[in-house]
Amino acid sequence: MELVPTPKSKFVRVKCNKCKNEQIIFGKAANEIKCLVCNTTIASPTGGKTKIKTKVLELLE
Ligand SMILES: [Zn+2]
Repeated sequence: MELVPTPKSKFVRVKCNKCKNEQIIFGKAANEIKCLVCNTTIASPTGGKTKIKTKVLELLE
């Protein structure tokens, strides 16, 4: 689990812990983000911060 306090990057490339699906998500999520394949929650908003609950592969511009 990694916490991204104020991400400069707009997008974050993550990999689902469960099914290994790679997915690009918003660095600042307003809603819960789920894996498109297995529906596991991979990121959730926490008071302006985005808590990413899976492996972060890359920060994208
Ligand atoms: Zn998944």
